[in-house]
Amino acid sequence: MSSPLPEIIALASRLIAFDTRSSRSNRALADFVVSELPGFAIERLDFTDPDGIEKSALVALRGEAGGCLAFSAHMDTVPPVGWTRDPFRPAVQDGRLYGLGSCDMKGPMAAVIVAARSLPADRAAMLLLTCDEETTKAGARRIVSESQMLKAHPPAGILVVEPTDLRPLRGHRSDVQFTATARGVQAHSSTADGLNANIALIPFLSEMRDLYLTLRAEPQLQDPSYAPPWCDLNIIVDNHGTATNITPPLATCRMKFRYSKAIDPVWVIERVEAAALRNGLELVVRQEGTPPELPVDHPFVQLATAATAASPKVGAFGSDASQFATVAPTLILGPGSMEQAHKPEEFTDLEQLERSIPIFQHLAVELPLVEG
Ligand SMILES: [Zn+2]
Repeated sequence: MSSPLPEIIALASRLIAFDTRSSRSNRALADFVVSELPGFAIERLDFTDPDGIEKSALVALRGEAGGCLAFSAHMDTVPPVGWTRDPFRPAVQDGRLYGLGSCDMKGPMAAVIVAARSLPADRAAMLLLTCDEETTKAGARRIVSESQMLKAHPPAGILVVEPTDLRPLRGHRSDVQFTATARGVQAHSSTADGLNANIALIPFLSEMRDLYLTLRAEPQLQDPSYAPPWCDLNIIVDNHGTATNITPPLATCRMKFRYSKAIDPVWVIERVEAAALRNGLELVVRQEGTPPELPVDHPFVQLATAATAASPKVGAFGSDASQFATVAPTLILGPGSMEQAHKPEEFTDLEQLERSIPIFQHLAVELPLVEG
């Protein structure tokens, strides 16, 4: 069999050329992807995001798919920060494919499309192609809640093809995001007319600092199978550009709390809610889906372990798997390294892109057998 690499590079290069950072529309890219999937039935989930931007998630299906493997990739990227190359101009150099999203995850998406469309004709395949993965997971949420195709053909397993160096990731953390808001009155700070919003926020921040330190100190709040074992509470404070001679009318604290399946997030959520109430702050809580995590001896994990000859791990980053794990057993496995993701001059090794094809195809063929 000839190498699939030229086909993967050609397709990935087309995908990279579309500017689909999460703040932009991905509709033109979705149209292009549909044109690359002849023979697939397509379900489009078009929507307008809260900023008024047109977005599309796609479900694609070939064959009688009940109990097949579904592959998932996201069409959006993070913004290109600090690049010296043109991020939308893909380049092959020194055995690597460069470009924004080459690793996270247009390279893996190209590989999985090539793998799916070159499966033997009697093998079913499903693709779950999302948007807004880097921000709100809105694409995956839509697919889970609205896709008729997914409901009619529940897959035996879902493979999220995030870059894992082709090692199976049997689980990762999920998160809860908090926004606490204190309101004041803006005035010249030399007068008595203002009300400084920070005065209400500061005692709340002090309580969040205590919570942060407790999470790092108490072993019963930690999961030793993850690195680091403690759940992170990342605290961001903002006065929205207020100058020092103005009493700030708005003070916000945004936080991301990451936790694994072994940790119950309710304990933390209740503490944040109580602290916000005590200090008279508005609080918005947004919980991601459940942390995906399959046991080491799960048949899907065992199959992926054998196919990659790499031992399964758990990871600290999040992905659409937190949404898809509610639908079917979900694993994360794809070419490329997270070490290159979200960085300038992002790349993926061509060797990994090529090696991913037989692994994806093996899983698509074998999973219905072990799960059936
Ligand atoms: Zn990604």
